Amino acid sequence: MKASNMTGHTGNEPVHNPGYRPIERVIAPPRAHMVGDGFRVHGFLPATVGMQRMSPFIVMDYNSKWDVPAGTAPRGVGVHPHRGFETVTIAYKGRVAHHDSSGGGGVIGEGDVQWMTAASGVLHKEYHEEEFSKKGGIFQMVQLWVNLPAKDKMSPPKYQAITHAQMAQHALPDNGGSMEVIAGNYQGTQGPATTFTPVHLYNARMNKGGKAELEFPAHFNTALLVIEGSIRVNGSEPVPTDHFVLMGNAPGKFVIEAREQAVVLVLGGEPINEPMVAHGPFVMNTREEIIQAMEDFNQGKFGYLED
Ligand code: MN
Repeated sequence: MKASNMTGHTGNEPVHNPGYRPIERVIAPPRAHMVGDGFRVHGFLPATVGMQRMSPFIVMDYNSKWDVPAGTAPRGVGVHPHRGFETVTIAYKGRVAHHDSSGGGGVIGEGDVQWMTAASGVLHKEYHEEEFSKKGGIFQMVQLWVNLPAKDKMSPPKYQAITHAQMAQHALPDNGGSMEVIAGNYQGTQGPATTFTPVHLYNARMNKGGKAELEFPAHFNTALLVIEGSIRVNGSEPVPTDHFVLMGNAPGKFVIEAREQAVVLVLGGEPINEPMVAHGPFVMNTREEIIQAMEDFNQGKFGYLED
């Protein structure tokens, strides 16, 4: 019998199964806002839980499926700086082009990831890819900001282009689908991205009825984002598409079950327990470092990138 039946609760109430990492909150997508004219995003992080709660994942902008009309000029965000963290962009539908002042750049399409380490500072621009823009179509992506520890905030910028084909695949039992490992490892299968702190990032691509067991150290901040389909977590009420599941920080495994064909972004990371001061595109440890970042940006120390 489900806990909800025993307590009279309905909907997405946390379900506590002894020995399992519990659900802390199920969060519906916040009202979408535009980033530039190219990204229509639900700002799950930090708006819903605060900036430290999911550290090292400090921003999650989720562009749920958006039917973009054909256009002449590619939509996107023009040249802007970042310092002190990494931007990780995961394309589910459509294609994104990126260029940065350290020479990194490229186009990612469905299933691909760009992992840009801004660290000491880059200028970059993010646009819909040209051919996609001309035709229009469904666009769906996630951008995460992954914080860096103080000791790495001023390290050199880096760019990792990770194609879908490069990702490690771990078959789920009983033909349940595949756990695609972007970073970290899943049951011994190691993902291609290099990270500065312990981070696990997966796409669970699941068939109807498929089950995936997950387990991270209890103190790792852990969450799910339902990209396609609907799931149950530890036998919970159904969690629909575009919903975010914040897991509690408690020991034990947890289990995702796909109620239909589903894609679930899985995040688990060791918190960076340092003070954080965020100002626009800069995330540092102190106010003085933010002022320094603004000065360096104004003095052109982030390099040059053509509009
Ligand atoms: Mn950016």
